[in-house]
Amino acid sequence: MADSLFDTSAMEKPRILILGGTTEARELARRLAEDSRFDTVISLAGRTADPKPQPAKTRIGGFGGAEGLAHFLSDEEIALLVDATHPFAARISHNATEAAQRTGTRLLALRRPEWQPEPGDRWTSVESVAEAVHALGTAPRRVFLAIGRQEAFHFEAAPQHSYIIRSVDPVTPPLNLPDQQAILATGPFAEADEAALLEAQKIDVIVAKNSGGSATYGKIEAARRLGIEVIMVERRKPANVPAVDTCDEALDRIAHWLAPA
Ligand code: NAP
Repeated sequence: MADSLFDTSAMEKPRILILGGTTEARELARRLAEDSRFDTVISLAGRTADPKPQPAKTRIGGFGGAEGLAHFLSDEEIALLVDATHPFAARISHNATEAAQRTGTRLLALRRPEWQPEPGDRWTSVESVAEAVHALGTAPRRVFLAIGRQEAFHFEAAPQHSYIIRSVDPVTPPLNLPDQQAILATGPFAEADEAALLEAQKIDVIVAKNSGGSATYGKIEAARRLGIEVIMVERRKPANVPAVDTCDEALDRIAHWLAPA
């Protein structure tokens, strides 16, 4: 293809498409880009206004559903699709499974393990952000909302609480809530800084997604130390596809599957 990001002069190299948007995807892209045996491109949704530069060839924007992704996989002769998207990005993972099946493309999921509750944690586990709103209860509370901006609108149903809302980009459209304060920040977040924020803002409950990984774990550790409740939105059961937990495991699997003996 004339406008392909892949190296059209090196068709013998297996082509890898990474679906990204996470720290792990970025790390995998960096390490594969340094590996001359493979030709790697990372794909981003384009949600973040000012994304960190990626350490590999990058395409940005949706594919047009599972069908569009299937066309991309066929047209670009992709040997391996790596789904390294965020564990709560359900639609793209569903599309990846379907497109890989349709085209017979190998699929590998790179998913960081979920956090597990530890002694001292005060978690209330819920299945969705909408359920988290109910779990806050009716009495006014000071809430630290750390679920990203896309589903923050659910909390308009509970305007009696005070909210500190942290996200990478501003919540749009602005939330219709009488008492809210926005913090724009990108992780990683250290436990000591998180504890200082929770204390300064007199937070009595955190709403978080069980994302796993270390970059956003600081607030969970800080909540444990300070005895603050965490309403934890748990993950849905993932599709049954070959999956690994870490970048190292992904590289081993890729070498096993794709590298010439
Ligand atoms: P989503 O609901 O699963 O996906 C919505 C649509 O966005 C997809 O159907 C696809 O459009 C497009 N898309 C998503 N990821 C893409 C990628 N890596 N490359 C190209 N297109 C992509 O996803 P989301 O929850 O909006 O998340 C968007 C991105 O942000 C993901 O890449 C994810 O890794 C990252 N992220 C998400 C969260 C979260 O909590 N959801 C947190 C941190 C980072 P088409 O159907 O047109 O192909």
